[in-house]
Amino acid sequence: MSLPENFSTWLEVDLSAIRDNVRAFLLLTGREVMAIVKANAYGHGAVPVAETAIQSGATWLGVSRIEEAIELREASIETRILILGYTPPEKIPTAIRNQISIACWNRRQIDLASECAQKNQINAKAHLKVDTGMSRLGAPPESAESIAEHIIEAPGVEFEGLFTHFACADEPNPAVTELQEGHFQELLNRLQKNQLLPEIIHISNSAAALIRPSSFFNMVRIGIAMYGLHPSKHQILGENFTPALTWKSVLGQVKKVAPGTGISYGHEYVTAKSELIGTIPVGYGDGYRRVKGNYVLAGGKRVPVVGRVCMDYIMVNLETAPDVKEGDEVVLIGSQNGNTISAEELAERWNTINYEIVCGLNARVARIYKNKDSLWDNKL
Ligand SMILES: *Cc1c(COP(=O)(O)O)cnc(C)c1O
Repeated sequence: MSLPENFSTWLEVDLSAIRDNVRAFLLLTGREVMAIVKANAYGHGAVPVAETAIQSGATWLGVSRIEEAIELREASIETRILILGYTPPEKIPTAIRNQISIACWNRRQIDLASECAQKNQINAKAHLKVDTGMSRLGAPPESAESIAEHIIEAPGVEFEGLFTHFACADEPNPAVTELQEGHFQELLNRLQKNQLLPEIIHISNSAAALIRPSSFFNMVRIGIAMYGLHPSKHQILGENFTPALTWKSVLGQVKKVAPGTGISYGHEYVTAKSELIGTIPVGYGDGYRRVKGNYVLAGGKRVPVVGRVCMDYIMVNLETAPDVKEGDEVVLIGSQNGNTISAEELAERWNTINYEIVCGLNARVARIYKNKDSLWDNKL
């Protein structure tokens, strides 16, 4: 099998899947879509994902950190960007000078933004973040109105948005989500009465955008589902969504070993008989978790990882896939010959969620982008 990429391990990110998933949300909600590209676009690569999302109709980008926003600006992306969370006060001027919108929930942030805006003779753009029940960041709804007034009165500060974040939108019981939405709606009513409403009101993450039209407001913030990954076990995406990411490596060495051979550190696994063992150049240094019971796809078959996961290698038992050769592709997440290992399956095995699986793919794993060109074709 020819491997034009010639990497030990790499991700293939199908940008046409990102495009289709963004469009699905535009159609489903009829609202503006903010593509959430924090944490290097959930491991998929911030700049290519952001560009694809914009080409597909997303009008906003959402990140967690100022550094992430600057990476997008340095790639000449001029789309509106919101830093969803905490910005160190010292970095607020950097955000403003780069026309990056910031989340605010106290007077100090707003005063700093105002000072910098006046000094540079530009507008600072602020989204008031309200804590309606996540208890993470934001102003309590009781004080949100006076903070909104403070934003409106601050010279150079534009009251651009108002938002909150759901704690339980991906769970089967909607009680908490309904309560949060209720608190938010009450605040909206008060602001509206006093003509304090900003341009953009947004609260839905992927899970809410899939099932709660009452939460759409002006814009939905789409993270996990844009990557074709399910928000949770209870919130499964339809067939029209496709995962964008495949994680691959190769068989670096294939050998028949004698019965009683210890495999990998500590010899935790010892062959019972003569066995075909493959060595794959991927390990916990790439984000492959050092736990027992892993499987990969090789020769179209699901084969077990044997012995401990090393920093740079895993070994697999190839007895059920005897025709493989050195250099053959293996799949760690994705499909091969009709067999699939999903990010959700790995999450189950690694005792976590699919979000952490893709965010945990280290920088050393190469990223290859598929179907980039077709995006441009489709625009014509
Ligand atoms: C990460 C994040 C999102 C996206 O959540 P998903 O569940 O991935 O859709 C939306 N809003 C905020 C504030 C976030 O931090």
